[in-house]
Amino acid sequence: MPVGSPGPDFSGRCSIIPITLGMATKTPATTSSAPKTSRASKTSAATRKSRAVVRDVEAGSSVDCSHCGERVKFQAKVRNKQVICNIYVSGKWNRVEHFHQACYEEAGNPFGEAEVGTDYRRQAANAAAAERAKKLAAESAEAQSA
Ligand SMILES: [Zn+2]
Repeated sequence: MPVGSPGPDFSGRCSIIPITLGMATKTPATTSSAPKTSRASKTSAATRKSRAVVRDVEAGSSVDCSHCGERVKFQAKVRNKQVICNIYVSGKWNRVEHFHQACYEEAGNPFGEAEVGTDYRRQAANAAAAERAKKLAAESAEAQSA
């Protein structure tokens, strides 16, 4: 006898939830399409310029320096730096060139000043090390006061 009433009540509640969710996701989607197009044109303009970044030489690197013609070698003991250039010719990506960091400076920064500090892995490692040092300092201060 009480079989009929709870069944339809539950299914009715369930069908209401997806409808409101669908309306909520639809509204921001239409508004976000406008800034998306303006952002795309901005980034393509920024990447059409040749640019240079400083990077650590990776193990197994097999590129030659565009300035002196010698291999940009990885050496475990020396943390060699290289300059990687993305070269754009008349607004179109053309090629990548590698330089020893010293050679790039010697050549007079031909593709603009090489950007340093975009190596996020290194930044994260440095931040972690600083955090550890702070913790150690706080711990030793605590030990002294106790
Ligand atoms: Zn070189």
